[in-house]
Amino acid sequence: MKLLDRYSRQVAVIGEEGQRRIRATSAAIFGVGGLGTHVAYYLAAGGFKKLYLVDSDKVALSDLHRQVLYSTSDVGKYKVEAAAKRLGDINPEVEVEPIAEEISPSLAGELAGKADVLVDALDNWATRHVVNRAAVKALKPLVHGAVQEWYGHVTTVIPGVTPCLEELFGRLRSLPSCPQGVCPVLGPVVGVVASLMALEAFKVAIGAPSLAGKLLVVDLKHMSVDEIELARDEGCPVCGYVKR
Ligand SMILES: [Zn+2]
Repeated sequence: MKLLDRYSRQVAVIGEEGQRRIRATSAAIFGVGGLGTHVAYYLAAGGFKKLYLVDSDKVALSDLHRQVLYSTSDVGKYKVEAAAKRLGDINPEVEVEPIAEEISPSLAGELAGKADVLVDALDNWATRHVVNRAAVKALKPLVHGAVQEWYGHVTTVIPGVTPCLEELFGRLRSLPSCPQGVCPVLGPVVGVVASLMALEAFKVAIGAPSLAGKLLVVDLKHMSVDEIELARDEGCPVCGYVKR
């Protein structure tokens, strides 16, 4: 089996140089739930060098309609452990490091130092802010996505170039929150938004993200897509000091 056989269909699109860049890129995926399992699947299958998976949760039966790496027999297991095993079966060429810990500033900072691209696949703004600050401090690109019900959005933060999540959050205060910690969402909506996030991570690796400074908003109830330009606020308390 030739080295590139596994990736032949994607090399036909991005070329051998693009594939080499992907093979040289590591990613830290924060949250291995609905969004994170899809993103991890595509990044591992596509040949990223290494994935750090961060999530302290265990698999629940109510996760299985959207969290594609898990099976019924995984219920009760740590998500990152079940995901690492599954990803190892899919592509043993990719190193996967499971981290079953709560996301703290020190953990986020450590991973922002190690990984080339960060992926925010979380479901709450408290930890998103932690990951955002770590990304800005380490000057690492951060692919952010969120879903709710029929809707979702994706953007890519390039610290010092685009707005960070602090500024985005200021524009999104009307987003509904999860009642009693249960976020209502449809599985295919998660799949669409997560696929867009994975695609951005590929593009970051290759060198040309499409959603840097842009918020792609998808309304999958009515099948409409909007793109909103995001202007940087030089006075942002998190990233305003970064000049590039
Ligand atoms: Zn900012």
